[in-house]
Amino acid sequence: MLIDKNMITTDVLTGKCSDHLVNFHHHKLHPLAYIAFNAMKEHAIKDGINIQPASTFRDFYRQQTIWNEKFYGHRPILDDNNIPINLERLSIEECCLAILRWSALPGTSRHHWGTDIDIYDPDRLPCGKKLMLEAWEYHNDGYFANLTAWLNENMTSYGFYRPFAIDTGGVACEPWHISYYPVAEHMTSLLTHERLLESWQGEHIAGKYWLEKNILLIFRKFINIC
Ligand SMILES: [Zn+2]
Repeated sequence: MLIDKNMITTDVLTGKCSDHLVNFHHHKLHPLAYIAFNAMKEHAIKDGINIQPASTFRDFYRQQTIWNEKFYGHRPILDDNNIPINLERLSIEECCLAILRWSALPGTSRHHWGTDIDIYDPDRLPCGKKLMLEAWEYHNDGYFANLTAWLNENMTSYGFYRPFAIDTGGVACEPWHISYYPVAEHMTSLLTHERLLESWQGEHIAGKYWLEKNILLIFRKFINIC
């Protein structure tokens, strides 16, 4: 199946449309990502790794809620050590930049595309422990170290890679986040700041005035990473 770039509308890019996605067990994925993910899962289970999605498609409005709740202090903003940051002392700029370490702006999340999946192995999560999606769970002696090693060895042959594998000061390292490159590369190339701002028209986005003024800087640092 080839990708028709004309079908990738601004609504598709910014998570305002999910009609093109496949539904399964409360999740949604792009059909090509869905096929590749299932093939990879089948291979992994033979090696004793149970790859399951914690999060797949997330729409614009869900991301908007997350963003606004963090901005207004109704949901914690974490620092690099997973400690909640005290918002009272932060300027609007500092607040936006702190949120952007871990959360995408509404309309820019890679989860809007149906190509990106947060994964874990439920068989390795100890009884009574909650999945945190924190880097230590996936590294060295973490619960999911075997999952990480298996993916390192095998995921590229199924088209997957980790867009947030290295922390370059923008988005923090997310070893649980994998992306289906053959489709995601098109999404990345088509998402421009003009299309993003179009998706924001008439929407309440906390800090919008500062964000719009600094949108090019934000794109360079936090968006269009491939
Ligand atoms: Zn993710």
